[in-house]
Amino acid sequence: MADPMNKKRILLKLTGEIFLAKDGTSTPENVLTIIHQIKELSDSFQFGIVIGGGNFFRGSQHGVKMGIRSPVGHQIGMLATMMNGLMLKDLFEQHGLSAELLCAMPSPEIGKPISQQTINEALHGGRILIFTGGTGNPFFTTDTNAVLRALQIGAHEIWKGTSVDGVYTTDPRINTNAQLLKTVTLTQALEQKLGVMDLTAYAMAEQYKQKIRVFNIFGKDALINAAQDQHFGTLIG
Ligand code: UDP
Repeated sequence: MADPMNKKRILLKLTGEIFLAKDGTSTPENVLTIIHQIKELSDSFQFGIVIGGGNFFRGSQHGVKMGIRSPVGHQIGMLATMMNGLMLKDLFEQHGLSAELLCAMPSPEIGKPISQQTINEALHGGRILIFTGGTGNPFFTTDTNAVLRALQIGAHEIWKGTSVDGVYTTDPRINTNAQLLKTVTLTQALEQKLGVMDLTAYAMAEQYKQKIRVFNIFGKDALINAAQDQHFGTLIG
């Protein structure tokens, strides 16, 4: 087996919506497809995963609708990422992938706390790292968390899996003339406030020169394509 420390490290940001079917009901299908691809790439890639919670709860969306005050709404959102992390870990293990659940909100019954030590242990052990609980702080997003965790694992790239093929000139779901951009600088992303990630995430990525590849995670062989084709999706960097 290849030494995990020689593998290319990727921080994969997954929205909680990967657990949703097109009709909004729960499904493991997208995760099973991801598992299949991670296995195929496992000789040369090691993954850290930041999982979102949007299928269950977003502070700025569900929290506001419920009249929950912001700091509490965001905490509920962070708890949602932990539920998703548990689902991911269980599905991974059932299909032969070894994973470590790391929690930014102390929950010893569920996973280990996030520290450079627990991260390094999981990296050396060749396990997939599943980062849950966001940054542990309200008012942040799992996108910003993806940049933070990418820096902590020394990721070559962040792969941000979305529901569109990359970054467009305008929103392709609204404007059919929108054009896919192959490369964008982080300065452009910040200045133009490109909606695919939040500004805090871009600012951090720019400061620490962390490249982000944006692509459609629901497309066929998305991870394989991201691994094999350096022009796949949009590279922000
Ligand atoms: N969240 C937070 N701090 C963080 C990360 C997440 O408060 O560091 C909360 C925030 O309310 C967010 C929710 O957790 O809306 C779920 O995360 P997100 O919306 O990023 O999930 P995704 O859209 O990726 O499924």
